[in-house]
Amino acid sequence: MAEQIKRPRGTTDWYGKEGVLLEEVKDLFLHEASLYGASYVELPVFEESHLFHRTVGESSDIVRKETFDLVSKGDKDYTLRPEFTAGVNRLIIENKLYASPDLPLRYSYFGPVFRYERPQSGRLRQFYQYGVEFLDNKIDIDTTLDAFLLSIRSTKKALNRDCRAKINYLGSFESRENYKKALRGYFEPIIDTMCDDCKNRLQTNPLRILDCKVPEDQEIAKGAPRVRDYLSEDDRKDFENICRKLDENGIDYEIDDGLVRGLDYYTGLVWEIYDATNPSFPALGGGGKYSSLMRQIGGPDFEGIGFSLGVDRIILCMSQERKDELTQGHSVDVMIIDQKKDGDAARIGEKLRNLDVSVTIASLAKAMGGAFKMADRLGAKYVIISGEDGLQLKDLAQREQKSVTEEELIEFFGSK
Ligand code: AMP
Repeated sequence: MAEQIKRPRGTTDWYGKEGVLLEEVKDLFLHEASLYGASYVELPVFEESHLFHRTVGESSDIVRKETFDLVSKGDKDYTLRPEFTAGVNRLIIENKLYASPDLPLRYSYFGPVFRYERPQSGRLRQFYQYGVEFLDNKIDIDTTLDAFLLSIRSTKKALNRDCRAKINYLGSFESRENYKKALRGYFEPIIDTMCDDCKNRLQTNPLRILDCKVPEDQEIAKGAPRVRDYLSEDDRKDFENICRKLDENGIDYEIDDGLVRGLDYYTGLVWEIYDATNPSFPALGGGGKYSSLMRQIGGPDFEGIGFSLGVDRIILCMSQERKDELTQGHSVDVMIIDQKKDGDAARIGEKLRNLDVSVTIASLAKAMGGAFKMADRLGAKYVIISGEDGLQLKDLAQREQKSVTEEELIEFFGSK
């Protein structure tokens, strides 16, 4: 026997009911996004490496070790997308969508992303993200709230229960630079006691130290200066205004000073979403406002706001009841047993499919009893037997069977 080939570490096979669930969750999310006027984009799963390596900032962990960089085959280097934001911004620039008079631009996406991480529960190397990006010359308060509210609504709808948001405000570049300086001053004398990643972060982007997952480092970070003390007056007012509006919308949130998000381009509101019933479970999603990304990749001076939800994590948090609810009604309508074994079942199947009835055909090798058990397992409502003496239609729920002509069969399903 040839050696068995296994699925790569940190990836998932979606099949059976879980495959159906993924499809349903995609539909649910994209429907929610469409309620906010977002239109769907489908992007390549790989892009020029430059797009990610430049836009996420020299200092983010994504750049340093987390991308799948493809072996170069021509004069270009390519990388599997580790996120969608940069790709959506690239699409907008390349197609000059920023010139549209219809602002803000609103795009939604759903698909796999790839990060070279150490796999564990809830942390994968290939996982699905759903999200949106809203873009405009300046992101205003309504667009900010819409993006935020959509992220919360989508998570709640998928889980069918409450979620919690942690929010923070990162401010303009000037205030950020001042804040970074203050962080360097705080961490420098104690950096030798911290992990190697933090040592690097001190040089490249001290904000990232606040994201460190090492418990001892998290303790040290608790005493660090707070970004809110380095915000300009305008930033402070903007943040207060956003909080007031969230209160008015009845949103349950908590301000978390340590929430800085990995990427360098965030300015303004940033947030993460957690499962309210399981608060120690890692973040289900995150979002934020950004100001320099478009310019960094050759576009105009546009701002954006967006979020990504981790679809795999959200599905992990779903109750079995919720999963069953989302996947119900996905059984096949009809199974045909082809006793004549002459291919007639496929022909009849096509006629029924034209009436929007889903039809499967039992393997010709199956005995009658086995075929009926299969129909049961697949949740079929009807079995059609195509035999030497014509057609039999069996209603599995009513346990009734009758002889029918092909015309009667078509009429019966056509009238359903
Ligand atoms: P990020 O783009 O890092 O802000 O991630 C957005 C969301 O994607 C997170 O809140 C997680 O729910 C999910 N996510 C991030 N990294 C992973 C991973 N390695 N495996 C599974 N889900 C992830």
